[in-house]
Amino acid sequence: MSDDQREKFGLTVTGLHAAYDRLAVLHGLDFHVMPGEILALVGANGAGKTSVLRSVSGLLRPTQGTVKLGDRDVTAFGAERIASIGLAHVPENRLVFPTLSVEDNLVLGGYVRRKDDGYARRREEALALFPRLADRINLAAGALSGGEQQMLAMARALMSEPSVIILDEPSLGLAPKVVGEIMSALGILRDTKGLAVLLVEQNVRAAFKVADRVMVMDRGKVVAEGTPADLASDERVRAAYLGGSSTSSSGIAGPKAQAAH
Ligand code: ATP
Repeated sequence: MSDDQREKFGLTVTGLHAAYDRLAVLHGLDFHVMPGEILALVGANGAGKTSVLRSVSGLLRPTQGTVKLGDRDVTAFGAERIASIGLAHVPENRLVFPTLSVEDNLVLGGYVRRKDDGYARRREEALALFPRLADRINLAAGALSGGEQQMLAMARALMSEPSVIILDEPSLGLAPKVVGEIMSALGILRDTKGLAVLLVEQNVRAAFKVADRVMVMDRGKVVAEGTPADLASDERVRAAYLGGSSTSSSGIAGPKAQAAH
């Protein structure tokens, strides 16, 4: 079976608890992201969003609960094995290899798959999604703008041909136009590739535009969940995240300030 015929699968998380040493930070989360779906995870600074991503990608071992990719329980697996099964993690702050060229960053992203015919196709698809990278293919990644580095971090993740992609604040510090490009790329990946996308965002408005469902976290728990339309009409969520009535006592802490563009 060729790579692009591989059946896509989703992510299912059940009863997830996690801790740093003895400090418990996640307290029993349940959620599912289906193939062809974008789930946005929003919440205040320190709510535990990054810890959720680290728990599903194998960087932080859950203390309780299960993480499944399709039917496969990967809770006890390390990050490399989880990546090879089909989950790609795009961490906060891009983390491209700055002294390597754009091309070599893509090569490294594909290392969990063989460098075969599929490699050329995946490279072409990633560059078609982000044409700016094609124009800069021989430049050192460190010479790219912040937006281009984010695109490269995503393109590199796609080189492993994942079923599930998880992203930590891809819009952080980027101009609105670039944020729009990043979000529309996620929409394309959902619609044309059937990827399951778990998106952590502080830019709640941008996340609401592209997400199919939204989950709001506060202090390690899910406190609201629904479609963007459902949540936009929830006064608590409006007040905390969408600039709604400030007189409402939401019980949901608002996000940290957006970085300057
Ligand atoms: P942010 O928006 O600031 O990135 P977040 O919602 O992603 O916040 P996490 O980064 O998951 O939240 O942090 C959740 C809690 O875990 C916080 O109380 C944080 O201080 C704590 N924490 C995060 N990383 C570590 C670590 N490496 N060691 C100890 N505690 C940590």
